[in-house]
This record gives sequence, structure tokens and C-alpha cells, in this order.
Amino acid sequence: MISCRHLTKRYGAATAVEDLSFDVRSGVVTAFLGPNGAGKSTTLRLMLELDHGEGVTTFDGTRFRDLPDPIRTVGAVLETRAWHPGRSAHDHLRMLAVGGGVPQPRVDEVLALVGLADVAHRRPKGFSLGMAQRLSLAVALLGDPKVIVLDEPENGLDPQGIHWLRTFLRDLAAQGRTVLVSSHQLAGIETLADDVVVLGRGRVLAQGPLTAFVAGV
Ligand code: ADP
Ligand code: ADP
Repeated sequence: MISCRHLTKRYGAATAVEDLSFDVRSGVVTAFLGPNGAGKSTTLRLMLELDHGEGVTTFDGTRFRDLPDPIRTVGAVLETRAWHPGRSAHDHLRMLAVGGGVPQPRVDEVLALVGLADVAHRRPKGFSLGMAQRLSLAVALLGDPKVIVLDEPENGLDPQGIHWLRTFLRDLAAQGRTVLVSSHQLAGIETLADDVVVLGRGRVLAQGPLTAFVAGV
């Protein structure tokens, strides 16, 4: 379980998120919901300790910064990645695997998992948005992490792409992983998430199982 306590981030005089506390269970998909500007990206970066702010986040009791084996614990898809123009999708993963001490066979494994095996020799520069998203997901999954965090992964995907992603994320959660996905889209949320954390203007407005908020899901 991820526990966030009293997360606060200020940009000068402006407060982006204030005193956020919430838990994210393992084995389910949690949607982090809120309109643009609500503070979702800021919170995810604070949570993963990629950004400085106030508050504490732990995974199963350990601070993120103290995790002994980060690549095997957390995989994140945050903003759009920059890809090297001259290298193939496979090259990117191979280099990241070397850097992270991940065995090479895992590269082909993650490419197959996200459905990119057939285009792995191509350069991501020419990929569609959906393919680029899958490649970012493959990168996040390299270390076979227990926690997967995705910031607005459905942006720009067509309905088929969204369906594929939701099924994929639910499978990851069913394996006992902790899956946290931010979204500004409330419609159809029940096909994505079991739990929700609702954010508005940098505050947690509600959190808990979706069944506590919506009848018939
Ligand atoms: P969301 O991900 O929900 O769209 P963000 O976390 O990106 O929200 O933004 C939350 C608030 O913090 C917004 O008001 C945004 O303008 C502000 N903000 C985000 N990043 C910065 C930054 N680097 N400098 C100043 N303000 C920022
Ligand atoms: P998202 O909704 O995914 O957070 P945004 O468009 O809000 O995307 O932000 C994109 C980038 O711009 C982020 O790196 C964010 O930190 C930065 N940003 C957002 N708002 C501001 C702001 N008011 N001042 C400076 N940087 C900002």
C-alpha cells in the first residue's frame, strides 16, 4: 500500500496542492481524478519524491527515497518522454535495461506485453501517440515493479486504445500490484478503477472504493 501524508507543494505564493493525505491499496486500480489544474501531476511527482515539497509518502512502510531497489518497485509514466531520434524502440529499452541492471530477456518480454514486438525495430519518433504510450509503459514495466503510476495515460488514445489499456492495467492489479492512474475523465470510470481519490483545487475532496460513491458499479 502507498500512504501519502500531508503532501503540500507551493510555487512561490501559489499553493498547487495542500495537505493531501490518502492511501492507495495494492491489488486494485486507483483512479486519481480531477479537472486540469487540480494538482494531479504535482501530487504524483511529490509522491514519487521526484519533486521537492512537504509531506511523506511510503510504500509498504518505506519512504520512496529509501527503497532498496527502485526500478523493481516503482514504474512511472509521467509526462511524454523524449526519444532519441536515431534509435529503435528496442534500442531504448535495451539501454534502459542495462542502466537499471535488468536482464536483457526482459526487453523482449515487455515489448510483447505491450503489443509492440512487431514494431520494436522501428524508431519511436515515427510512432503514433498510442504506440508511444505503450512504449512508455514498456519502460515503466522493465523492472517488473510492484507499483505502477501513470499520469493521464488515456490522453489522445482512441476507444480501442483505452479499452486495451484498461484491460492491461486491471490485469496488473489482479497480479497484486498497486496501480495508480490519473485522469480528468469521469465518464466510464467504473471500467478503469476500483478505488478513487478525487482532487479539486489541490485538495482531496473524496476517497474510497467507487462503490461508496456510485450505485450499481
Ligand atoms: P493537473 O495535473 O491536475 O492538471 P498540476 O499538478 O499540473 O495539475 O497543477 C496544479 C497547479 O499547480 C496548477 O494551478 C498549475 O498551474 C500549478 N503548477 C504546476 N506546475 C507548476 C510550476 N512548475 N510552476 C508554477 N505553477 C505550477
Ligand atoms: P498536466 O495537466 O499534465 O499537469 P500542465 O499543462 O498542467 O500538464 O503542465 C505541463 C508542465 O508545465 C508541467 O511541467 C508543469 O509543472 C508546468 N506548469 C504548469 N502550470 C505552470 C505554471 N503556472 N507556471 C509554470 N509552469 C507550469
